[in-house]
Amino acid sequence: MTDEQIFKNYIGGQWQESAGHETFDNINPADTTDRIGAFQKSNAEDVAAAIAAARAAFPAWKRTPPPKRAEILFRAGQLLAERKDDLARDMTREMGKPIEETHGDVQEAIDMTFYMAGEGRRLFGQTTTSELPSKFCMSVRNPIGVCGLITPWNFPMAIPAWKIMPAVICGNTVVIKPAEDTPLSALNLVKTLEEAGLPPGVVNYVSGFGPEAGAPLAKHPDVPVVSFTGSPEVGRQVAQAGADLFKHVCLEMGGKNAIIVMGDANLDLALDGAIWGGFGTTGQRCTATSRIILHKDVYTEFSQRFVERAGKLKVGNGADPGVQVGPLISRAQLSKVERYVEIGVREDARILCGGSRLTGEEYDRGWFYAPTIFADCEPGMRICREEIFGPVVVLIPCNNLDHAIEIANGVAYGLSSSIYTRNINNAFKAMREMETGIFYVNAPTIGAETHLPFGGAKQTGNGHREAATAALDFYTEWKSVYIDYSDKLQRAQIDT
Ligand code: NAD
Repeated sequence: MTDEQIFKNYIGGQWQESAGHETFDNINPADTTDRIGAFQKSNAEDVAAAIAAARAAFPAWKRTPPPKRAEILFRAGQLLAERKDDLARDMTREMGKPIEETHGDVQEAIDMTFYMAGEGRRLFGQTTTSELPSKFCMSVRNPIGVCGLITPWNFPMAIPAWKIMPAVICGNTVVIKPAEDTPLSALNLVKTLEEAGLPPGVVNYVSGFGPEAGAPLAKHPDVPVVSFTGSPEVGRQVAQAGADLFKHVCLEMGGKNAIIVMGDANLDLALDGAIWGGFGTTGQRCTATSRIILHKDVYTEFSQRFVERAGKLKVGNGADPGVQVGPLISRAQLSKVERYVEIGVREDARILCGGSRLTGEEYDRGWFYAPTIFADCEPGMRICREEIFGPVVVLIPCNNLDHAIEIANGVAYGLSSSIYTRNINNAFKAMREMETGIFYVNAPTIGAETHLPFGGAKQTGNGHREAATAALDFYTEWKSVYIDYSDKLQRAQIDT
């Protein structure tokens, strides 16, 4: 890729410049002198054109038999698998996470593509009985129309795939507006769908910023379905934008995910999980482990060993072999982490390691922050309640399982949680009591698979789920069908 590269929007099967003729730069967060290319700074006019294209494509696509839609998705999945190395390299360059993790991100997109392609021969409804004779009842799924998809930067291909694949297999058409920090990975996904033979207008892509491109998409009257993943602040605006027209709005937002480590846990395993859950993706996963609630019997030993392990993590450019922790995505995200660490210090939490930006030749051109651990934290502290979205983990002591569960549930979010224990009763009790959409036993808070529902309780979401067949419920309307072959009027609930 050269410095001159200009990437375009994809609207109605055409690669086009923005009507405003403005672009923005996509920059490598590990080396800000590395400019990946210029992307279209789209505006409301571009978004309207993309919506019009999606609307025009909808009637033919919704009548295309789902197994035929699926054939295109299967081809796209194969192309993604063939190109996995290149796609991962592009993603590490624009997003920063280590190359092994970006391979995982692409794999998640492949998994979702194949999974939803399989749905082309299912999309099951129900057939059921009737309370009246000679009457047949069934329910079928119907596509809804144009779906507006707004995605964040931390899973730049997986999250677009979570939304695009179920939407199109169900017969909808889409307009996607990816995060401004990672427009390339979503574009690579859309390009692959084009090459796999997706008809023009079924998937449309507009790059750009939230207020100029995301907001008009969320608001537009011809977009009855909006799926958003990102921050709670923007999620609220997206929900409000859809409220007047009673749009279907799926919101996936923040987390403050906890691991509970009980006194009977396998500590080696818990440490492996805490390191991966806390510092994988530089803590920039919605499911990242940002709190570790430690039984008092293991608090001291776990804390010491956790700090030793965190201190050995290799931080650097994710493209370099051996790097385990990449940069933060942007200057803004780095500042946010710095602010929260100051807050933690003011709240009298004790820094065990990290606590500052990394400097030196390897780091000065990027947004690197040292893996940071706070000890002796109280559940009410802001660093224990608010999402930091960086390599910062807080350690909170607890007395017993009930106490641990009370602490874990004492936040506004409800995305993911986990317990390390060898006691089956503890594990099942925690499974029942944790107020999260995802729960793990003897594994960290990250690691979702595409065939299970993904999403959060409480203020993480608004009750919908992505992935699995749960996603089909969001992207279709149920139609209940009654066929009366008795040749006479039969009145439900009245004629017996
Ligand atoms: P963000 O809310 O800043 O941006 C998300 C998307 O919304 C971007 O595409 C952005 O351009 C767009 N946007 C911004 N303002 C908008 C507006 N007014 N109207 C419409 N769209 C607008 O979030 P982010 O910083 O990209 O992502 C980090 C957040 O995402 C974290 O809170 C994280 O927990 C969350 N996240 C959640 C999940 C999940 O599934 N629960 C997954 C990944 C990330």
